[in-house]
Amino acid sequence: MSVFKAPLEDTKYLINEFLDTSELKGSPSLLELTPDVTDSIFDEAGKISENLLFPLNRSGDEEGCSISNGKVTTPTGFKEAYKEMTESGWGSLTCKEEHGGQELPHYIANAVDETIVASNLSFSIYMGLTIGAYNAIERFGSDELKNKYLPHMVSGKWSGTMCLTEPQCGTDLGLIRTKALPQDNSSYLISGSKIFISAGEHDLTENIIHLVLARTPNSPDGIKGISLFLVPKITSDEQNILLDSNHVTCSAIEHKMGIKASSTCAIEFESSEGYLIGSLNKGMKAMFVMMNSARIHVGIQGLAIAHASYCGAVDYAKERLQGRALTGTKSQNQSADSLIVHPDVRQMLMTMKAYTEGARALSTWLSFKLDVSQEADDPQVQQNADELVSLLTPVFKSFLTDIGEIVSSLGIQIYGGHGYIRENGMEQYLRDARICRLYEGTNGIQALDLVGRKLPAHMGKYLRHFFHPLSLFIETHKEDEQLSAFIQPLAKSFSRLQVATLTIAQKGMSNPNEAGAAATDYLKLFGLVAMGYIWSQMAEQIIHNKGTLSDDFYDAKLKTGQFYMERILPQTGSLLSAIMAGAESTMALKESQF
Ligand SMILES: Cc1cc2nc3c(=O)[nH]c(=O)nc-3n(C[C@H](O)[C@H](O)[C@H](O)COP(=O)(O)OP(=O)(O)OC[C@H]3O[C@@H](n4cnc5c(N)ncnc54)[C@H](O)[C@@H]3O)c2cc1C
Repeated sequence: MSVFKAPLEDTKYLINEFLDTSELKGSPSLLELTPDVTDSIFDEAGKISENLLFPLNRSGDEEGCSISNGKVTTPTGFKEAYKEMTESGWGSLTCKEEHGGQELPHYIANAVDETIVASNLSFSIYMGLTIGAYNAIERFGSDELKNKYLPHMVSGKWSGTMCLTEPQCGTDLGLIRTKALPQDNSSYLISGSKIFISAGEHDLTENIIHLVLARTPNSPDGIKGISLFLVPKITSDEQNILLDSNHVTCSAIEHKMGIKASSTCAIEFESSEGYLIGSLNKGMKAMFVMMNSARIHVGIQGLAIAHASYCGAVDYAKERLQGRALTGTKSQNQSADSLIVHPDVRQMLMTMKAYTEGARALSTWLSFKLDVSQEADDPQVQQNADELVSLLTPVFKSFLTDIGEIVSSLGIQIYGGHGYIRENGMEQYLRDARICRLYEGTNGIQALDLVGRKLPAHMGKYLRHFFHPLSLFIETHKEDEQLSAFIQPLAKSFSRLQVATLTIAQKGMSNPNEAGAAATDYLKLFGLVAMGYIWSQMAEQIIHNKGTLSDDFYDAKLKTGQFYMERILPQTGSLLSAIMAGAESTMALKESQF
């Protein structure tokens, strides 16, 4: 059985020492968030994740969800845990105080989120979907809808979903067929079939508030004719007393590779009453606005699974005795040395640690930029942060969910054959991690978003928000000998990223397949450089302005960072070669040759 520990020390280091919050220095909510306040939030989140949610992770995976007569039952213990988590406010950290939430900034809430997700991804999905729906209603809904629905979603009485996907339409939402028929009373009757709806039906709450993409009669074709509707599972009166079924039924649940305790439902809407959110035919616009925070959330899922797998792997590598160290026996009193003495096992552990801690630092920094994009006093500062977050969101989502899979696969490898055995818990991480590369826009689509939309946006303006500070950082520290192990590889990989950017921009203009074929490699190259940048910033701060944690902590941080720069960042070289090779061999075969 694998073990789990919340990443408390690293999280506190990132929030209290690493993160520069000066862009929001006047914000009253930040003034209240002193280290003792935030530390106690993380401590409590750690306790509840380790003691309440992690014990339900394996059992939830084994038991899964079941369906009978359209009613979905979640695994044993989920209902009680959901009540406890929502009643104690863990599901509503970023929600507005007027709706009963705590209005914490994203950089704090997302750090808590990592711990909760790491302990039990399936469970966290029910809370995460509710927050997604809350955000959409809060941002685009009428006051009437907000007042009626949001307090109950925040209290945990009602939950939420996002209903986009249909059998014929996944990535291409322009193919949506679900219909919305206007009624005299300004409501709509929604009819259609949605599939793959996370938390679409369950027994955790008394009502479920579905957000549904649908088309009104005579709306324009494609994504320009899609609107967003709020459709409750059960109707309610003005006092929110539940009334009748709204003809929303769950016809099936999916049997999946992972996240088995999260219900994934086929939902039928049969003339169900719904209410427009935002403007008619602007449903996709609302979705796009929500996407940054939703995709960052999925990136955090990748980080969280990586952390969970790392916890199990470290514990096992120290406990399991096999073979002797190449340099001679380490533990004379034992029949063999522990796995951790072997360079190959070390290599895997270091890779897991370097990716996971780098991802956590990126997450803290990007989450803070999301706060700046929403809270900064100066509109120009807000806009710059918004453009930076837009640029980096597809990189973050894809790179971190790729890491979730790489790290959880290494976690199995460290366990050897025992990693392949269910009861040890490590294979579940890999199965669970796999979905994160698929939903909320597949990683391939993220790469196209980066190359096709974000790079060319405003003649490369978004890109400059990242490239300029990075160039400046390299320029400022290039003569610093204490940092040379960081700055030299960073400068080399950054120049590779610049060459790749230019090449894609030039070749992509004459042949879009060139950009399409390079996109995934380019995104990885971008992610590796971004992580190299964050590791270098951590190193710079530790070397020149160390905080109050133990020397051992900083020593490990610097050595892990150095491992990243020496052993992982050089992948940028092969990625650049692949990008420079162009699209020809990728597109060379006729379809009949496959
Ligand atoms: C467990 C689970 C939970 C989910 N939860 C939800 C939910 O809560 N709500 C919801 O609405 N949906 C949900 N989904 C659906 C999910 O978001 C979609 O599966 C995903 O968007 C991909 O769509 P698709 O499966 O139809 O794949 P497709 O769109 O058919 O794509 C198949 C492959 O082709 C690639 N591809 C497609 N189009 C292009 C293109 N133009 N250019 C290049 N490559 C392309 C894709 O990257 C992918 O590799 C969930 C799915 C699963 C499995």
